[in-house]
Amino acid sequence: MTYIIEGKTGSWEIVVGLEVHAQVISDSKLFSGSPTTFGAEPNTQVSLIDAAFPGMLPVLNRACVAQAIRTGLGLNAQINLQSRFDRKNYFYADLPQGYQISQFEHPIVGKGCITIELADGQTREIGITRLHLEQDAGKLLHDQDPSLSFVDLNRAGIALMEIVSEPDIRSPEEAGAYLRKLRQILRYLGTCDGNMEEGSLRADVNVSVRKAGEAFRTRCEIKNVNSIRFVMQAIEAEALRQVDVWENGQTVEQETRLFDPSRGETRAMRSKEDAHDYRYFPDPDLLPLVLEREWVDALKATLPELPDAKRSRFQAEYGITSYDAGVLVAEQAVADYYETVARERDGKLATAWVTGDLFAALNKTGSTIEDSPVKAEMLGRMLDLITDGTINGKIAKEVFEVMFETGDSPDTIIEHKGLRQVTDTGVIETAITTVLEKHADKVEEYRNGKEKLFGFFVGQVMKETQGKANPALVNDALKARLNNS
Ligand code: ADP
Ligand code: MG
Repeated sequence: MTYIIEGKTGSWEIVVGLEVHAQVISDSKLFSGSPTTFGAEPNTQVSLIDAAFPGMLPVLNRACVAQAIRTGLGLNAQINLQSRFDRKNYFYADLPQGYQISQFEHPIVGKGCITIELADGQTREIGITRLHLEQDAGKLLHDQDPSLSFVDLNRAGIALMEIVSEPDIRSPEEAGAYLRKLRQILRYLGTCDGNMEEGSLRADVNVSVRKAGEAFRTRCEIKNVNSIRFVMQAIEAEALRQVDVWENGQTVEQETRLFDPSRGETRAMRSKEDAHDYRYFPDPDLLPLVLEREWVDALKATLPELPDAKRSRFQAEYGITSYDAGVLVAEQAVADYYETVARERDGKLATAWVTGDLFAALNKTGSTIEDSPVKAEMLGRMLDLITDGTINGKIAKEVFEVMFETGDSPDTIIEHKGLRQVTDTGVIETAITTVLEKHADKVEEYRNGKEKLFGFFVGQVMKETQGKANPALVNDALKARLNNS
């Protein structure tokens, strides 16, 4: 099996591994009690520890450790009962310590895997190499003054999970699917909000190319890409660049690059440093982290049903397609909404309404399912009214529109607008008589064999009853009348 960008990289295969930095959902930072609220005034969430005052000592935040363990469990990964914090030394103006506390040789989480699904419905397993905890840095502000730069340390010391994948990804599409799936799992777990605009999730993208069957070649690392679309574009651009280099008889150098979305190309930033350049050593201020098996097991019991399991269950329980189930479990809030509507009802009908009319209305008004004016209970009630024959499917669309506008219950709307379905055969027969008399010429044509006119008659009778007639009754009665000259 080779994965190439069709017609673009020729016989070259793309190899990608992703390092994702996911900001941990936690009230306070990894080693201090400072708050982590996004968008606060600069330098208002900074303790003496975050600002690296001399003599300050870090204290590990138990909640952040729990989040890393829960994430590891959600990624089907090995939880290491012993791990260690190391200092990764480098000088940045927004890193007052002069080092980042990270985990190098002994991360808290080891090997795991994620199942991704591709557009053609096929699935692949992408290996997770490790997950470790580390501190975020501060932020430099260059746009506040013409000649000065400022430092905002609000972010300094916030807990990040670095989630490293195996070089198992073989195309931009797979990279996109991997990131979407990872983000979904993190959001279900409540360990990272996955908000890429706010920088809660960012990816370093490692790319190389090789001829099919060869060993891996040298990779380049594209730093800090902050949208899934850009990750996919960056991989394509970088792979094409590398193919060009190799095809011209030159050698790809290991280096760190930046993706420029406006030009659609990657640019060299610096030659890639190796681990020994960071002079990693165990942080002497922190003891090794030893976890009790019982605590890990207790955390395991707190895991929610994750997207893959939920998707299979939805298919089995509600009789819906794998595709529809995938759409419904993409966000936990949508899945919860759907279940409230579908439970004890027709799962397919519920799917059609949620992914059809509801999604369209939410899209149009730019709202999320959480603030939908039509609550799940109300939509469920409307399905009951369709099922028990109070309204037909067409009138239901009208009722739904009013529900979405006003937030009123379907019963109220049907009563006020007189939308109750007409099942009185007398009324239906009268409407049919009117229609057949008005279109005597067409009745003639129908009886002479132009059977496709039947739909026209149905339409006219529905119109005559303001759309409220029971369509099945109309069908039967019309057939009887037309075939009975
Ligand atoms: P570092 O910490 O220096 O970035 P790692 O060994 O942790 O190095 O690897 C980082 C990422 O690079 C991993 O996601 C891995 O899958 C990926 N990777 C390793 N070798 C290759 C390669 N030849 N081509 C593409 N990606 C690679
Ligand atoms: Mg790296």
